[in-house]
Amino acid sequence: MNKDFETRWCKFCIDNTKQEIVFIPEMATYKRRRKFVCTVCKKSSWMQGKRPSAESVY
Ligand SMILES: [Zn+2]
Repeated sequence: MNKDFETRWCKFCIDNTKQEIVFIPEMATYKRRRKFVCTVCKKSSWMQGKRPSAESVY
């Protein structure tokens, strides 16, 4: 089984880090929260999935 990783903002590292998605709801829509574990600090957090165009980086 492949692990899913996403680069997300980590509030503990205060940086964008590679985070493993450890929990995805059965209905994996962007409105549902997913559980991420930061590969840097190993802390987990719940975040919503990325929306199609709302998270652009300036
Ligand atoms: Zn972190």
